[in-house]
Amino acid sequence: MALTKTRVSASSGMGDWMTQDTACRGEDRELFFQPDGPGARAWTPAPALERCAVCPVRGDCIMFALRHEQAGVWGLDEVTRKSIRRLVARQIGRLAAARPAGMEMTDGERAEQRDRLYAIEANMRLQGAGS
Ligand code: SF4
Repeated sequence: MALTKTRVSASSGMGDWMTQDTACRGEDRELFFQPDGPGARAWTPAPALERCAVCPVRGDCIMFALRHEQAGVWGLDEVTRKSIRRLVARQIGRLAAARPAGMEMTDGERAEQRDRLYAIEANMRLQGAGS
C-alpha cells in the first residue's frame, strides 16, 4: 500500500471514520497498545505507525484520539499526543488570558480553538515525519 498524504483538519474525526477501511483492521491489539508485563519494555510504536502511515483515515484517527484517547497509537503515538495537548493547553491559556474582562472564552470557543490548534500541531508533526 502506498504512503498516503495525511491532512488533519479541525473537523476531522467527527464522523463514522471508524467504520471505514482502516489499515489496522484485523491487526493484533498489542501492536497499537503497549502490553503490561514482560513485553512492555521491548514494545515500540514504530510498527503501528508504519500501518498508520498508509491509513486512509489517519487524519480522522489523530483528531479523535487527541480529543478522547490517552493510551495507544492512534495515527500518532502517546508521547506525541501528550506533547500536542500540553502545547495547545498553554496556547489556549494565553488566548484566554488576553481576553478583556467580561469577554471570557466560552466552553464552545475553547473547544473550537483547541481543535484548530490540534490540527495545526498534528500537521506540523506529520510534515516533520515526512507523511
Ligand atoms: S491511523 Fe493507525 S490507528 Fe488510526 S485507524 Fe489508521 S491504522 Fe488504525
